[in-house]
Amino acid sequence: MNKPAQAIDTQAVMFITKRPDLIMIEGRGSWLTDNNGKRYLDFLQGWAVNCLGHSNPGMIEALNAQAKKLINSSPAFYNEPMLGLSNLLIANSCFNKVFFANSGAEANEGAIKLARKWGQLNKSGAFEIITFDHSFHGRTLATMSASGKPGWDTMFAPQVAGFPKADLNDLDSVKKLVNDKTVAVMIEPVQGEGGVIPASAEFMSELRKFTKENNILLIVDEVQAGCGRTGTLFAYQHYSIDPDIMTLGKGIGGGVPLAALLATDAVACFVPGDQGGTYNGNPLMTAVGMSVIEQLLAPGFLGGVKKKGELLKSELLAIAAEFGLEGERGEGLLRALMLGKDIGGKLVDLARERNPEGLLINSPKPNLLRFMPALNVSDDEIRQMGAMLRELLKQVA
Ligand SMILES: *Cc1c(COP(=O)(O)O)cnc(C)c1O
Repeated sequence: MNKPAQAIDTQAVMFITKRPDLIMIEGRGSWLTDNNGKRYLDFLQGWAVNCLGHSNPGMIEALNAQAKKLINSSPAFYNEPMLGLSNLLIANSCFNKVFFANSGAEANEGAIKLARKWGQLNKSGAFEIITFDHSFHGRTLATMSASGKPGWDTMFAPQVAGFPKADLNDLDSVKKLVNDKTVAVMIEPVQGEGGVIPASAEFMSELRKFTKENNILLIVDEVQAGCGRTGTLFAYQHYSIDPDIMTLGKGIGGGVPLAALLATDAVACFVPGDQGGTYNGNPLMTAVGMSVIEQLLAPGFLGGVKKKGELLKSELLAIAAEFGLEGERGEGLLRALMLGKDIGGKLVDLARERNPEGLLINSPKPNLLRFMPALNVSDDEIRQMGAMLRELLKQVA
């Protein structure tokens, strides 16, 4: 039995988004518990952040051990976890150099600066970076300007210049924007906030071929799709291409603020003074990141993500058929259910308010639901989510 909800005082928190009248107190695996003792099956996981679920034992151990040893030396010195995590990422990708940051937006700012610097050195000051309609790259001024979210072009005008927008999966729309100022193309392998829309295999390989032939850098923003989410360690690995720059965030920290900018030797052209940040390579955060990546690389783990992705896919397809919905799409454990009508927001609220156990899902567009469970979610929990969703869809029918 749930206790009656307690009134909570939230007036000191700056209002930036509507939040439900509850406080999350603790989490274990795929479950969160609020201040009234109610449990929620969490298929949000901090927006694809907690890739190993809540309170992962390996992460806790790494955090505790590092906290006892060294929390922060200073960005002026190397530290052990910074070196360890850099080496781990290099050994398992096509990149040679890593810079750590604290958020996805900050990693993308670094990618934009690196591409512009490379353009200054190699392409007579070319600085334009082609991005895509409906893309999402963060909430700093430059990354908002890079994003293709409707309305963001005027929200905090004037924009940072130099981000023309092409259409995803349409190479001609990219070619039309190319001129002698073009230095890079930046793309999410799966558009997350845009509604879980994967770049097609054909488009990605043609885009890589075209950019290479025209001396244009390819930047993949894997803040949401990277770190095992799609069933490979990095999403670009589905396409058999080698990008020049990649950014990571969200999953790399498993819940702690950590992000990364990776580049090949040919492109990593920063010199002292170009890039920095007080917390870059912070040992406490990179120690946790090491634990996360090591667990993702453990034998069988990524294969398990693929299998669970297939199970989630078949569950969503079955639900779509049962309720006459449009279908589903996505890659691995980043998936969307296309509802065919604008009931996403209503379903999200009903799911959370459901009793005795709530369900946490998200609706980036009114006509679809997005699912981003922990990568170690159990088969039972996927089926449980399906059962809860069926019940809610009956309610709104
Ligand atoms: C979330 C996200 C970002 C921004 O990351 P923050 O850590 O919120 O700054 C950038 N790119 C993509 C693809 C994202 O999903």
